Amino acid sequence: MAQAQLSATWQPTRLVSDSSGYDYDLVIVGGGIVGLTLAGALKDSGLSILLIEARLDSPAVMKGQAYAVHMLSAQIFRGIGVWKSILPHIATYRRVKLSDAGFSQVVEFNTQDIGTDDLGYVAEHQALLYPLREFVRECPQVKVACPAEVVGVKYLNDAVEVEIKSGEEVQTIRSKLIVGADGSRSQIRGSAGIKTRGWKYWQSCIVAFVRPEKSHLDTAYEKFQPSGPFAILPLPENRCRIVWTAPHAEAKALCELDDSQFLAELSQRFGDQMGKLELLGERFIFPVQLMQSDRYVSPRLALIGDAAHNCHPVGGQGLNLGIRDVAALAEVIQTAHAAGKDIGDIKVLKQYERWRQRENLVVLGFTDLLDRLFSNSFLPIVIVRRCGLWVMAHLPFLKVFMLKLMIGLLGRKPSLAKKVS
Ligand SMILES: Cc1cc2nc3c(=O)[nH]c(=O)nc-3n(C[C@H](O)[C@H](O)[C@H](O)COP(=O)(O)OP(=O)(O)OC[C@H]3O[C@@H](n4cnc5c(N)ncnc54)[C@H](O)[C@@H]3O)c2cc1C
Repeated sequence: MAQAQLSATWQPTRLVSDSSGYDYDLVIVGGGIVGLTLAGALKDSGLSILLIEARLDSPAVMKGQAYAVHMLSAQIFRGIGVWKSILPHIATYRRVKLSDAGFSQVVEFNTQDIGTDDLGYVAEHQALLYPLREFVRECPQVKVACPAEVVGVKYLNDAVEVEIKSGEEVQTIRSKLIVGADGSRSQIRGSAGIKTRGWKYWQSCIVAFVRPEKSHLDTAYEKFQPSGPFAILPLPENRCRIVWTAPHAEAKALCELDDSQFLAELSQRFGDQMGKLELLGERFIFPVQLMQSDRYVSPRLALIGDAAHNCHPVGGQGLNLGIRDVAALAEVIQTAHAAGKDIGDIKVLKQYERWRQRENLVVLGFTDLLDRLFSNSFLPIVIVRRCGLWVMAHLPFLKVFMLKLMIGLLGRKPSLAKKVS
């Protein structure tokens, strides 16, 4: 499909209210990939939904963000019914090569390891965002307010009152539940007084697109350098996405190099396995942090995606965790609604928190461990990690366990993902 067909416009929609006690069953704040996925996941729930998004454009599209999309996320998108609109615009990877700079042992994961046709996918932000926007626009029970912002939230016993500013107009609507999908600086989390724990890393992440001379052969590379993890992910049209982590000063200096110097540094780290690399477009730099919210829910509130947690980009986990949050929350509230229960009741919402908070913590801890273990030149640690790589390469069950952990196939599987084989 041509780029033009991807360029969905998202018409601002006026809010509608009816005369019942609630204007909407559910309000989702944040129309990023995670918020939109939740709206799509609830399309057959019978719940009326208002999705509020502050921006018509998307900074992530402008900065060329791209993501590794794991098998479980693909199954969830398939269960929702949006995957067929996404798949033509993204790349599939069938091999992952994991290595430690200066050490010859490479651990190769491939489709035979788990008996599937694909290992995972790589998608640019718009390749997920635009089909999701289109999909949600076709859902009759979802109304979209965009551009609009939440300017106040009041939690009552039986409802949540949400004050929404759209242009000059401010309206208050009543809902049973508000979901914060408003990203890492979540205003919804902050205004509910939910504390977070975590830290900012000593590293930043440089991202860029390149086109290699030779085919990328549907292969993703994760190479650990003493300064931090370095990934090259395959994209359509034989392009690749670089995700390069380095200490702040080094990352800034790399970003400031001219194109030919940057390419020289890149080739030095990556080698010449794909031939000469051509730089496409601008480079961007992102700060990196680990964050976990103390609570994912409180009465009439649930947090999902980056509003609930952030992690190091190593292993491409962040968005994938958010998609799994969506599937879990959708299942919990849909089941409660079908049983005639109040979807904003804390007893209902706690089921979501129990399901996701611990699973996310395991992945957050794992990405942190990977980063610390591999961004390290302390000899005993170098020996341990190289032994670890050797053992993984020679013990298939360990390799498969690691792969399943990284692509989300070890935790509790949501029903949305079970809808399709
Ligand atoms: C360098 C880098 C590489 C990464 N690579 C990967 C990867 O390979 N795989 C992966 O899974 N993850 C990856 N991530 C993580 C991923 O980017 C995030 O986890 C994901 O984008 C979070 O999506 P979200 O929808 O929760 O939040 P966001 O994308 O931040 O969306 C939040 C939305 O809420 C809106 N909003 C905010 N406040 C309000 C308000 N008050 N009212 C209305 N709307 C509001 C915003 O406009 C925005 O549209 C990476 C991150 C970085 C930094």
